[in-house]
Amino acid sequence: MSATSDDCIFCTIVAGEIPAEVLGRSEHAIAIKDLHPQAPFHALVLPLDHHENAAASAAADPAVIGHLVALADTVARESGNADYRLIANTGATAGQSVFHTHFHVLGGSSRMSESL
Ligand code: 5GP
Ligand code: ZN
Repeated sequence: MSATSDDCIFCTIVAGEIPAEVLGRSEHAIAIKDLHPQAPFHALVLPLDHHENAAASAAADPAVIGHLVALADTVARESGNADYRLIANTGATAGQSVFHTHFHVLGGSSRMSESL
C-alpha cells in the first residue's frame, strides 16, 4: 500500500488538488462534507494515507481508526449532532464506491439514511 494513489479521488482531495468543503482536520485525517448528502448532516472522515478500506487501514496502523472516530465525533458535535451514525461500506457489493478508507458520519434526523 502506498501513501497516495494517483487515480483516487480522495487522495486528490487530501492533496488539495480538487475542492471539498473541509469540516475539520487532524494530524492524520480530514473531515469533508459529502458531495451528495443522504442525511441532513453527512460528512466523511478519511485518513491522509491511502488504503482501500477500514480493515486495510487498521492492518497498517490500528490507531488510524481511532483518529477517524475522534474526528467524526468532533465534527458531528460541532455541527450540533451529538447523535450520529458511523458507516464504513467495505466492498462494492456492500455499496463502497470510493476505495480510500472513509466513514460516513450521518446525523440530523431520526432515520439518518438507513439505506447507506
Ligand atoms: P461509498 O459509496 O464509497 O461508501 O462512499 C463514497 C462517498 O463519497 C459517497 O457518499 C459520495 O457521495 C462521496 N463522494 C464521491 N466523490 C466525492 C467528491 O469528489 N467529493 C466529496 N465531497 N464527496 C464525494
Ligand atoms: Zn486514496
